[in-house]
Amino acid sequence: MTQKIFWENPYQDTCTAKITSIEGKKIKIDRTVFFACSGGQESDEGTIAGIKVVNAVKLGDKESIIDIEYELEIEPILKIGDDVSVHIDIEKRKKLMRLHSAAHIAYYFMLEKLGKFKIIGSNIGQDKARVDFLYDTPVTDVLPEIEAKLNSFLSENQHIIMAPDPAKPDLRWWCCGEWKMPCGGTHVKNTGEIRTIELKRKNIGAGKERVEIYLK
Ligand SMILES: [Zn+2]
Repeated sequence: MTQKIFWENPYQDTCTAKITSIEGKKIKIDRTVFFACSGGQESDEGTIAGIKVVNAVKLGDKESIIDIEYELEIEPILKIGDDVSVHIDIEKRKKLMRLHSAAHIAYYFMLEKLGKFKIIGSNIGQDKARVDFLYDTPVTDVLPEIEAKLNSFLSENQHIIMAPDPAKPDLRWWCCGEWKMPCGGTHVKNTGEIRTIELKRKNIGAGKERVEIYLK
């Protein structure tokens, strides 16, 4: 099981780790700062042993992250037990953290205004986050109100806590104010770090809505 430093300290961009498994270009390590695509959040970008990571795959069930397998650009001349340095692009990580936290908070303000809706897709990248859901009427008219409430909430400097699940060590709970949801992603500690966001609606077909979230 990989020790997830990105949960303990999502602001840390470097760590050393020991190789626990190696097969060609694919390796596993005992601890990591490098997040693997999960719950809609994209993988980090960075290097292990100075070699670019081209793919990071999460091993575990839907919400938990048990282990991560990294694919390197070239086959490393390394063996099990070797120490390696793990490094990520912290600027990308910070954008992912801000957008992931914003996406969760946006969800609750959308729920408040729109009532229940079924999410059919979501993605958190470094330039924008998006959520796709089933809804019969375009949300264009109500989006400015949701955006204003959301930005007002962000400016209140509310705390965001990632709490471990008492029964499942590989599951984390995202908690902010009265809200709580299972989430394995990386998040800012305070809504003030997100600063201001912008919401845009995209037309993706009848009965479906897409809301995009941008950092300003
Ligand atoms: Zn999440």
